[in-house]
Amino acid sequence: MYEPGVIGVWNGANQKLQNFQPCHKRQPLATYHRQHRVLEPGPGCADGVLEYTADPLWPGIPGVQRWHPLTQMLQFSTVHGVDPDRLPGTLYLEVRCRITADPPSGTRWRARNAVFQSVIPSTDYTVTNNPTPDRKIRNVVSIKFDALSRTAAMTYMPRFVKWLKAMNAQPADERKWRAFTMGSYHVLGHNTQVNEVPYLTGQSHTRQPFTNDHGFFPFGDDYTWIWDEYRRAGYKIGYGSQHAINMMGYCLGLPDVADRFDYLFRGQDCYMKTCANFNILNVDPSTPLCSGNVPIGVEFIRYIADAVKDATAAGAGVAFFTDFLETHNCNSPMTAAHVEDAALEAVAQLMEARDDTLLVVYGDHGQHYGKLYNTPWGRVDHRLPLLQVLAPQWWLDEHPDTEAALDANQHEIVTMYDLHATLRHLLTHPTSFSEVGPGIIETMDNPHARSLLDPVRTHPDAYRTCGEAGLDHASCVLSPGSMKVILTPPAIMVDIIEAVVDHVNGHTASHRSPADRPGDGCLEVFIEGDIISGFINGMVRAGATGDIYDVNVRIQPYACTFGAVVEVAHDGLITVHSVAHTSPYAKFETCFAKAEGVPSGMCLCQFPGGPVPASKQDK
Ligand SMILES: [Zn+2]
Repeated sequence: MYEPGVIGVWNGANQKLQNFQPCHKRQPLATYHRQHRVLEPGPGCADGVLEYTADPLWPGIPGVQRWHPLTQMLQFSTVHGVDPDRLPGTLYLEVRCRITADPPSGTRWRARNAVFQSVIPSTDYTVTNNPTPDRKIRNVVSIKFDALSRTAAMTYMPRFVKWLKAMNAQPADERKWRAFTMGSYHVLGHNTQVNEVPYLTGQSHTRQPFTNDHGFFPFGDDYTWIWDEYRRAGYKIGYGSQHAINMMGYCLGLPDVADRFDYLFRGQDCYMKTCANFNILNVDPSTPLCSGNVPIGVEFIRYIADAVKDATAAGAGVAFFTDFLETHNCNSPMTAAHVEDAALEAVAQLMEARDDTLLVVYGDHGQHYGKLYNTPWGRVDHRLPLLQVLAPQWWLDEHPDTEAALDANQHEIVTMYDLHATLRHLLTHPTSFSEVGPGIIETMDNPHARSLLDPVRTHPDAYRTCGEAGLDHASCVLSPGSMKVILTPPAIMVDIIEAVVDHVNGHTASHRSPADRPGDGCLEVFIEGDIISGFINGMVRAGATGDIYDVNVRIQPYACTFGAVVEVAHDGLITVHSVAHTSPYAKFETCFAKAEGVPSGMCLCQFPGGPVPASKQDK
């Protein structure tokens, strides 16, 4: 059914998977003994100088890290922690192998500068890691694997999937926990913000203009942040990013971010700052992010597990939210394999070693750049990310209606608004959502939101529709109607492309950079019809009032691609429903100094030397 090229993409990914070098094959730079806070130099730096720092690379100020030689075992105490007043008990350690010789040409910076990081809470625990539950869900841990589609997870995280299946296959009275796969979880829109902001706030990402000045959260008191709800309910709250110094991969962050969380995992480098050397969106698929010989994602999970133990010792619960960016990759969906060990660690530490935690593992969207996305199959894959909800079996046994609802909702169309409503509902569970839901929905931007702990369907005898889930019919691939790959562009495609270009021009024309703002602002964009190379591929399906085309249009001089959802009504009227920039380098998305009011994804970044030729981008 699919084009041969689509199969090629998957074959390419599998080849990369075969060349995948897991972290454990490396020599450790250092070993960190968490229980005693002892750092021990390892054999992995024979070709350089081993150094350590206890200063996090934060808040993105050059020179804040002081490095010291690591030549013998060192024991750390909490006085080495950063920000002891605001984040007591958090210890940050980073180890690097500084190679003084010039690296071979073409070598990435990590080849000469490997990094090790560990963060631990300082509390000396007096309780075991398996406390007696007080008959409730004590903790909520939310693991976000950025850009992880359901298919990518099923294909490239086989041990994780096998574990969930094996546990689910056991009789209820023998299993410790159960995993629910939300099989029709659908994106709300193209990229991170449009899905993530509704999850974390229950509100639309359009409430505030997206700027990269401070990342996009946590800021803005107009939003009802989910962690504030949990804080008010007496929980300790945590946030962490695998691959960034602070929130959402942006180095600058909010100066008061440490005031907002009880636990904060800062990650080992900075997405924006180092993207000249290492672009997280284009990471080498054969090289996972390692912390010495341990995946950095595993270190991250260990930090979360420590935070949960720490809170338990203090008699509190934890709500911990995360962002794992390693899965966000332009080259290959197989980077899901990079985080599989982290996913396994999360199940081991939070579901096996404890029985008081709800674990949510999800992707905000599927892969939305690159070769896979530029296939009809990739367009579908992008819209169906992973969503797993893991709950202790004893809790399900005590609430059979909740278990039945979670079971049934696996087959219903759900969105990030529903996940937000679910976590809000959990705070008052087992009160039914019909009772508390109206008060929750009142603060949200989607009246259709429902809790996964109650049945989400509107009519008892029918599955929830896209519209009932609050999804735009034109962008919902789960709506009824045949979906066909467009192999030969029909004549109407010329008109569709023109409509898309008009849309792009209309949305960029009002905020072109004035001549006195060269270099760092939004580039003047006006796309003439004759510089468009045109239609790449797409899909078409029957909508209620016409055919809905889901197409990619290439704009040649910027070597970029726009994805668009365009409706051609029965009377021939063309309506552009949405347009998003989808090129591998996302130049329209990561512009560092966007003009005010620019819609996300519609400002073309200026960069030295002008547009990058296509041959350089599409590696
Ligand atoms: Zn994302």
